[in-house]
Order: sequence, then structure tokens, then C-alpha cells
Amino acid sequence: MNLVMFDNVSCLNELQNVDRMTQNSPYPIQSLEINPSFLLRVDMLAPVAYQGEGFIPLVDFPRLSTESTPVGSRDGFDCQIRSWHHDDRPLMDVRIRGRMAVACQRCLDPLGLELEIHKTYVFLKTDDEADQFPMDRDDKEAMVASTHFNLLEAIEDEILLALPHAPKHPVGLCQLREMEADLEQPNPFKVLKNLKK
Ligand SMILES: [Zn+2]
Repeated sequence: MNLVMFDNVSCLNELQNVDRMTQNSPYPIQSLEINPSFLLRVDMLAPVAYQGEGFIPLVDFPRLSTESTPVGSRDGFDCQIRSWHHDDRPLMDVRIRGRMAVACQRCLDPLGLELEIHKTYVFLKTDDEADQFPMDRDDKEAMVASTHFNLLEAIEDEILLALPHAPKHPVGLCQLREMEADLEQPNPFKVLKNLKK
């Protein structure tokens, strides 16, 4: 099985900043159980700073399960959650790392994907506020704070967004390399001819 790496993470400085902010948070730390029944309703208006770490198996994500090919019990995602407050506004750092298999769009055999995702949610009071909140970075997203924020669904959304649109084995490793892979390659002579124009 081949692995396709997605690495849009790993900024140590940022992690350290989050650590500092969590420590300075005026609210008590509350441990967040990484378990579907807890993650379906997270009270983002509670005066607490959440911290939690755990594994969510693929079967707990219904939409992802339909996207994946038959899987092993190790398929799923390690999640690391921290929340804190800044300017009286809740923020949440979500780190997701794990693996699943999807069908190769060329040969339909399973294609293993390793995903690593980092997102920071900023919680605002209303939909309007969230829509207008200036986002300077792709890894930040505005959410509406509620007493029943569905973090499980948000995590599943992030993973779905990180999946490649047309996943394929690398040419040479795909079962259909003889027949179709060649057809998809641009004709080198044609490319050369275009370059000369
Ligand atoms: Zn393939």
C-alpha cells in the first residue's frame, strides 16, 4: 500500500504560543474526552479551557466511512484538542493525524492516505460576526460559539476537505498502469513542439 503524504502542519513556535496562552488562561482546564458522545456537544460558552487527546476510529465518522474502502481497525485519527480564551473569545486548536484508505480513481484498489491537519477555530457570538471575521490564514476558521458545538462533525469536515479530489496511485504502482496511465501522460513530442512555438 502506498502512502500519500499531506503535511500542512508542524509549526513548533505556534504550538509553544498555544501552550503559553493555555497556561495564561483565566479559566480552569477541563479535560475533554475524545469520544463521539462528548464531541457531539461541546459547550463553547463554558468558562473553561478544554484539553483532550485520543483516537477516533474511522467508523465513528459516517461520511468518511462511505468515502473509504474496507479498512482495518487501526484506521482512524488521533486528535489533539486545546481551547483557550483570548480577548474574551474562545479559540480552539485542533490537530488531527491518522490514516484511511480510499479507492484509487484509476484501478479502484485501495490507496492508503496519511493525513495531518492543523486548524484553529475562533468562536464568535453570531453568524454575521463569523461571516465578517477577517481571516488572514487558511488554517484559521470562524465558528459560532454555542453550548452544543459539534466538534465531531467539524473534525470530519476537516478530514473530508483534506482528501484529494481524484486520488490515484503513482504511475507505475497502479494496477492499470499498462492500459490507462500511458494515455494520461502528455505526449512528450507534442509538449516539445508546443515549447518551440
Ligand atoms: Zn490505482
